[in-house]
Amino acid sequence: MKPIIFMLFCLSLQMCSQVKQSEKSNPIKNSTSMENSTTPKENPYYSRTDRTKLDVPNSEWKKILSPEVYAVAREADTERPGTGKYNQFDELGEYYCVVCGNHLFRSDAKFSSTCGWPSFFEADKEGVIYKRDSTYGMERTEVLCKRCDSHLGHVFNDGPPPTGTRFCMNSVSLDFEPDSKTTASK
Ligand SMILES: [Zn+2]
Repeated sequence: MKPIIFMLFCLSLQMCSQVKQSEKSNPIKNSTSMENSTTPKENPYYSRTDRTKLDVPNSEWKKILSPEVYAVAREADTERPGTGKYNQFDELGEYYCVVCGNHLFRSDAKFSSTCGWPSFFEADKEGVIYKRDSTYGMERTEVLCKRCDSHLGHVFNDGPPPTGTRFCMNSVSLDFEPDSKTTASK
């Protein structure tokens, strides 16, 4: 009788370890299905590694982007102050263009601003380009994604040290990736 009991014991141990293995693989599957809801799901141009310049007409973006993202990113609309999800947000991680996945900002360069929009004192030099904006009777500098030319916000020279620059961005144009997840996927 004893050998049989021992065999059963071994068998149950094996089953336990199998359960543990499947538990380990599950969180990865779950985390991919819980991605940011504004991340374009069927966007063939979205990439966090490819920095090749995109030349996609707005007629095509209109089919891919949500109306909210399209209005801000492609028609230079501005989200209402204080309403953006990254306005009062201080998690550590990376900010990407919500339209094309291009890297734009690092959370280290984000600062608490009272202007009502997420603000950064420094941008990824390879991530953004600038354009003169004279609309609404103001002289401003528009900030665009270098890869897809989407509107991100404006830049001002009243920011904090060390740069004195204030990138005033629309949360709608940003896609945030927390540090822990970035490290895990590397
Ligand atoms: Zn972009």
